Amino acid sequence: MKAKVAINGYGTIGKRVADAVALQEDMEIAGVVKTRPSFEARIAKKKGYSLYSASEDNIADFEKSKIEISGTLDELLDKADIVIDATPGNTGEEYRKLYQEHGIRAIWQGGEEHELAGFSFNSEANYDRALGRDLARVVSCNTTGLVRVLYALDTAYGVKKARVTLMRRAADPNDIKTGPINALVPDPIKLPSHHGPDVNSILPDIDITTMAVKTSTTLMHLHAVNLELKEESSQDEIIRLFEERPRIRLVNSKDRIKSTAEAMELAKDMGRPRGDMWENVLWKDSITIDKGELYFFQAIHQEADVVPENVDAIRAMLELEMDGAKSIEKTNKALELMTS
Ligand code: NAD
Repeated sequence: MKAKVAINGYGTIGKRVADAVALQEDMEIAGVVKTRPSFEARIAKKKGYSLYSASEDNIADFEKSKIEISGTLDELLDKADIVIDATPGNTGEEYRKLYQEHGIRAIWQGGEEHELAGFSFNSEANYDRALGRDLARVVSCNTTGLVRVLYALDTAYGVKKARVTLMRRAADPNDIKTGPINALVPDPIKLPSHHGPDVNSILPDIDITTMAVKTSTTLMHLHAVNLELKEESSQDEIIRLFEERPRIRLVNSKDRIKSTAEAMELAKDMGRPRGDMWENVLWKDSITIDKGELYFFQAIHQEADVVPENVDAIRAMLELEMDGAKSIEKTNKALELMTS
């Protein structure tokens, strides 16, 4: 029998996780929750997902819009094995209480604090520790992208020190309210940014400091990474290490991929749903060892990279697969992640 997954918060992340779950052989969507009627609610119905209202108060709105719903979030929670909470940050406490009342396992996203679930997840770094857990948080898009490379490097050579500058997209493409439209904003100005401590919620022993700047773009984040490794390595060895990782896509500027714009175009040309890039896009020709330190650039598609991690977190918590590497393989295969 397939595991039944509920999606609470069917926005940027929730709808992508729903589609990824629906593609897996061992899980299915029990229902998705919307707060109010919208084009997304109509499309969810068209895709065959059962639609639920976040509260009883909004049922009349759905009826008025002639969008048929199957009930409320409360009812859905009794029909599912696990809930993906992809609501905007800071609804965590309230929903944790509700999920616990229903005795359902829950996975939050990076907008919530580590303490809410008491456990932060990344597929490669700590799948084993998620096995059978009731609560987990899939870390943010930036942290997921950083943990993927740091875990690989730390396992192979040991990371002595990591210093990362994150150039963050200001808003998602569908967001018409957030800026800046024309500025670079050090954010936060008081250093360091929260991304380093967030990496430490998964890799506690890595000495990492991060700075972040909000930029006038919606496409992707860009990381400028500088590392000292405990053991010596070479450019070729680092390239080989990243080539073997299941969710790192090496690109080359000689191939005319010189920016986040072209990295996104690549995902669209590959026929990815919504033009999503689930992998870190890491410039092979940026990998440099200079005066004993390693440097590279990578781009992170903020709407997409946490999606496969959510699928693996479900598999671990429900113990559908005990081996993390096999789960990653199953998720990637169903999404056609490395073959597309
Ligand atoms: P979003 O605003 O695109 O979607 C949130 C959805 O939740 C919306 O459909 C909204 O209507 C719904 N919602 C609001 N209040 C609700 C409630 N009380 N109950 C049920 N549904 C409710 O947000 P998002 O970008 O998908 O972010 C969701 C989570 O994922 C956040 O924790 C965020 O930090 C994290 N995240 C976002 C990104 C990103 O770049 N968008 C990347 C990684 C992680």
